Amino acid sequence: MSGGVTLSKSTFLHGVQCQKSLALHTFHPDLRDPITVTTQFRMQNGIEVGVQARLRYPGGSVGRVPDSYDISLKRTKDLIQSGVPVIYEAAFEAEGVRIVADILERTMTGWRLIEVKSTTEAKPEHRWDVAVQVYVQRKAGLDIKEAALLHLNKEYVRQGELDYQALFCEVRLINEVNDMQREVEDAIALCKETLAAGAVPEVPIGPHCRDPIDCDFIGHCWEEVPDPSVFDVYYIGKKAHELYARGIARIEDIPHDHPLDKRSAFHVEAHKAGETIVKPDEIRDFISALRYPLYFLDFETFALPVPPFDDLSPYGKVPFQYSLHVQSEPGRPLRHYGFLADVGVDPRREFLERLLEDTRGEGSIIVYYKPFERGVLNSLAETYPEQVPEIEQRIERMVDLLDPFKQRAYWHPGMGGSNSLKKVLPVFASELKYGEMQVSDGDQAMAVFVSLAGENDLAKTEELRQALWEYCKLDTLAMVRILDGLRGIASPDP
Ligand code: SF4
Repeated sequence: MSGGVTLSKSTFLHGVQCQKSLALHTFHPDLRDPITVTTQFRMQNGIEVGVQARLRYPGGSVGRVPDSYDISLKRTKDLIQSGVPVIYEAAFEAEGVRIVADILERTMTGWRLIEVKSTTEAKPEHRWDVAVQVYVQRKAGLDIKEAALLHLNKEYVRQGELDYQALFCEVRLINEVNDMQREVEDAIALCKETLAAGAVPEVPIGPHCRDPIDCDFIGHCWEEVPDPSVFDVYYIGKKAHELYARGIARIEDIPHDHPLDKRSAFHVEAHKAGETIVKPDEIRDFISALRYPLYFLDFETFALPVPPFDDLSPYGKVPFQYSLHVQSEPGRPLRHYGFLADVGVDPRREFLERLLEDTRGEGSIIVYYKPFERGVLNSLAETYPEQVPEIEQRIERMVDLLDPFKQRAYWHPGMGGSNSLKKVLPVFASELKYGEMQVSDGDQAMAVFVSLAGENDLAKTEELRQALWEYCKLDTLAMVRILDGLRGIASPDP
């Protein structure tokens, strides 16, 4: 029955995660969630890591030929016979499974497979990836003696030219994947059976939808989940799935005696009561600790797997933009400052110098989730040690506007159990909206900024830079409005 079914490595891996995902990918790819700028950015990063990894194993030839798997198979076979030491993108097919190996290295005793990942560690799911390749290669007649995973080395710090030996770490996996060969065979059989049946199997949603990776069909399969739902409960984690599996989807239907973390229980009870919770004394304490002038500050950063500049590790954060609203005294108009780097150059020094200039003096520097801005400044302090005293002065002045929300001094049903700026803002200033913006979150800002390097259309570049500018500016304006709102709550007009 299943003899005619052909799997690719990725469809097989979808099947390992969920048989429904495998079937949807095969029969209804149109139901996939849309590919976002952020997804494209991640894919591009993966390609870039693959290109860099080859430089660690030089002298190879490429097996894959675009658009023709049959020619790729033939070319790979010819390369093996020709005696080349290394093959990149080597294509194989056996038992109805097609795979393309990132790197194959000829050794004295046989072949060594190297699977390249853009992560900074080997993850449990990577074993399946390597195991199925070893399975197919052996069935295709290749003498695989070793297999390894190549991932980025988070300890590596770039200095000058990239050091391809130090940039990556190899993890030997041959013993684990040898032990998995029977499991792989069974999993292939199950995938083929599912596809041969020609229908999408019924699989309830569950933790597997996001583990090990976010499935491509969450929008489709999770359509029935109400908004808000048990999955939105603060700090609920996997307990939400237990509730959902019991038929409890809405927060108001969670039984009173259901065991929950106290933060989750707070959210559930507050949601059921439908009331705003306000602790004016705590809000007053927070506000009275602020010192004018107030500096409302927000950073945007990008992080690339292959460090583009010195003193950076894989995925080291590079700040490229900030927005700053300053209010000199209560009730005074706001002044806005900002910085948005040019692409293609290391922006860190200019970013830091401009920021230190714009925040010179005294007064509270208000951020939303202080560990982020503080972490960026601490990294800059390591790169520019001469600026340490100034940087430390800015960090000492930092106040986290998230604190009153985290400490539950204010809770509103409209926040949906989240303290994020995007969820808190509508409660205080519903007219300010992220959803209508061309750039509407930090991941998107990063992807857009990095994409500018390849943008040749000047008008498009200007449009995207303006979108970045507006997005970051809204983040700091949002903080201004939220603080105004808290101030009104703590000291209501008589
Ligand atoms: S969303 Fe969940 S249930 Fe649906 S296909 Fe993906 S993993 Fe399977």
